[in-house]
Amino acid sequence: MEYRRLGKSGIQLSSLSLGSWLTFGAQISDKTADELMGLAYDAGVNFFDNAEGYAEGKSEEVMGKILKAKKWERESFVVSSKVFFGTAQKGPNRIGLSRKHIIEACNAALKRLQVDYLDLYFCHRPDKNTPIEETVWAMNTLLQQGKILYWGTSEWSAVEIMEAIRVAKQYHLIGPTMEQPQYNLFERNKVENDYLLLLNEYGLGITIWSPLASGVLSGKYTSGKAKDTRLDVKGNEWLKDALLTDDKLKKAAALQKIADELNVPLAKLSLAWCLTNPHVSTVILGASKPEQLKENLTALEVLPLLTTELLLRIEDIVESKPKLSQF
Ligand code: NDP
Repeated sequence: MEYRRLGKSGIQLSSLSLGSWLTFGAQISDKTADELMGLAYDAGVNFFDNAEGYAEGKSEEVMGKILKAKKWERESFVVSSKVFFGTAQKGPNRIGLSRKHIIEACNAALKRLQVDYLDLYFCHRPDKNTPIEETVWAMNTLLQQGKILYWGTSEWSAVEIMEAIRVAKQYHLIGPTMEQPQYNLFERNKVENDYLLLLNEYGLGITIWSPLASGVLSGKYTSGKAKDTRLDVKGNEWLKDALLTDDKLKKAAALQKIADELNVPLAKLSLAWCLTNPHVSTVILGASKPEQLKENLTALEVLPLLTTELLLRIEDIVESKPKLSQF
């Protein structure tokens, strides 16, 4: 395993990590979740990603039970939660980024995950109804209390993140360390365009999600191998509609040809591609089956095959590189 610094901070994350969205407490059994975490940890994964909103809190409960049973040394892993969407009980003060919800959500996540502190705590989305100042102060309070070690954002705009940094500087508070954006061969604008200043000048770290676009970039939807997938799960129709488009499927089929030439699974190629971006601190993997995770955990093997020429061929297929303004 390779370890990367989370931006300019001192903490190091395995470049491949494991997340629990749509899987833990939902699509997969607790036994499979246990097996996945064991496989990951044994391969050197040190970061496990979670959120209050995943399976309405059940994902954290499942992960908490596993962490307790595994008895891994607390210093050997990094665990996260995210606040914004709330859990099963919704209400005006049970969602969002008010001081009330942030403090209550953190305490609840600590209980579900059965840990004394969260290493990383993310504001899962921006909250248009709460001043950023209130959110930054609440995060700083949790830091001072030792309940979280680093805080960050997820899918905030560059302007919103800059405002959080500005507020933190104004009051001598600790600002956001990291962002969690979607990043894969189809979705690149935030990471490769919007956030450039934050990454280059402010040392923001990024922990990226959906590196396989929920499995489309494994090529299984174009090779006829898709079975028991998350897109078949009731309630995920919105995701299916967003992902199984002609354009994405056509591109996945063309990428598959390159993977075949290299004699590697497309999933590994797609994951390795994410790692070619040095700003990426960690690629958060998702898996519903142990075989998938075993395959994905060897993605680093493909990195040396990604020559400049090959990367250009990939660009010609995906055509997703953001156009930067030139002066
Ligand atoms: P991916 O895009 O990698 O999708 C993972 C899914 O793809 C698996 O569950 C499996 O689904 C399929 N898959 C994985 N490996 C293979 C393989 N080798 N061959 C075939 N199919 C495969 O990642 P996720 O979307 O799961 O995102 C990763 C993590 O990022 C999440 O768990 C979560 O922690 C985080 N995240 C954060 C978000 C945010 O807003 N901050 C939003 C979304 C995710 P299937 O069951 O269909 O086979």
